Amino acid sequence: MEEILNLAYRMLQKYALCDYCLGRQFARLLSGVGNKARGEALKVVLAMEANMKLLMNDKDAANVLKIVAENGMNKYAKKLAKSLNYQINETKTCYVCEGKLIDENIRRMAEEIIEELKGYEFSNFLIGASVPAHVKERDDQIKAEFALTFGEEIKSDITREIGKIIEGVMRKPVEFATPDITIIVDIFSGTFTIKSNPVFIKGYYRKLQPNIPQAPWICRKCRGKGCDACGHTGKEYPDSISELIGDPALSLFEALDYKFHAAGREDVDVTVLGTGRPFILELKSPRKRFVQLNQLQDAINEHAKGKVEVSSLSYATKKDVRDMKAKSAIASKTYVALVEFDSSVDESKLKEVCEKFRNLLIHQRTPSRILRRGDKVRKKYLYFVEAEKKGDRIVEFKIKAQGGLYIKEVINGDGGRTVPNIADALGTAPINITLSVLEVEG
Ligand SMILES: [Zn+2]
Ligand SMILES: [Zn+2]
Repeated sequence: MEEILNLAYRMLQKYALCDYCLGRQFARLLSGVGNKARGEALKVVLAMEANMKLLMNDKDAANVLKIVAENGMNKYAKKLAKSLNYQINETKTCYVCEGKLIDENIRRMAEEIIEELKGYEFSNFLIGASVPAHVKERDDQIKAEFALTFGEEIKSDITREIGKIIEGVMRKPVEFATPDITIIVDIFSGTFTIKSNPVFIKGYYRKLQPNIPQAPWICRKCRGKGCDACGHTGKEYPDSISELIGDPALSLFEALDYKFHAAGREDVDVTVLGTGRPFILELKSPRKRFVQLNQLQDAINEHAKGKVEVSSLSYATKKDVRDMKAKSAIASKTYVALVEFDSSVDESKLKEVCEKFRNLLIHQRTPSRILRRGDKVRKKYLYFVEAEKKGDRIVEFKIKAQGGLYIKEVINGDGGRTVPNIADALGTAPINITLSVLEVEG
């Protein structure tokens, strides 16, 4: 019956411990009671027992009372000790937390956090605590010295108490897995940091003009410093898909930065039409996260008018980024190619091409135009070719192929590096190819 009281008394005999730091050592006993209440209850019972024994003239009880008053810093024990004219040392502070883990500090920190959080839109949050190593070591040392196995970490006390106040005032729940906001508190230095976790938005983009790279393309001559060749912009091309989509989103979400993820990329001179290419925009450190996505779509399409168009926007997660990237390497794509040949195209040969190029395995060596990436042979399926003559020497092809197959080289053969190829099958060489992406399997 008296094991816990005995333990508590032996601990207090050796170390000054505040209510939190004493109660924490028994945190897993009787769930629902706060550690502060546990610590205080133990001290109150110890002082009551001392008081009873004093009334029965047991002089040893004076020591117990003095310990609870000094090392326990218990106000009732102090009052009783003073009324009995015992000399007590009132300057002691908690051995573990050095007196930092007190309600006043917790409340002040919670109030400062709440004030800061007013600048953010969020639906849930998580508190983390940073605890100096020497504090943690002393807490662990006591646990080891008294063989305590039902305690918890000092971090838990701090995060629980501050979290409770914020939950109550802001009416937002704590979320462990994917919190909108993470707050790291350090009650030992009285500081905290707020981290607003990223917002992810997925959708499809159409690229209406060629010569817009997906990511900003730094000027090759000046490497971004600005020179005559790039008109002192530091860029090879004035726009990029990433900026055309990301910039309006950055300002609507009041984010600090963004990262553009896409399901593969097209060559800079290739347009993206049809349903478009899947992308996910990651907005970093946003202050807003409840933006109406049709408002965002309008803002992007207005900003990027005639260049890029987005559709089907919805909120996404970090996992969606991983899934999209894993899928995009193998996802099939459908292209439209308008091809001009150097001599007239035979209608019957064109028909043969459409019959032959059906579920056909293509052997493709790395295109000569990108050989610097390393030479290797890719084996990829081409699913179908449809062809429509638009003039004596002009054909519009619709081609669906496995992800990773270079389509221009399937058409022109790349000097025999891609086999079979359409140029060989037709017996005429393409002199101009205009390529568009029509669909990327999402
Ligand atoms: Zn303490
Ligand atoms: Zn330049």
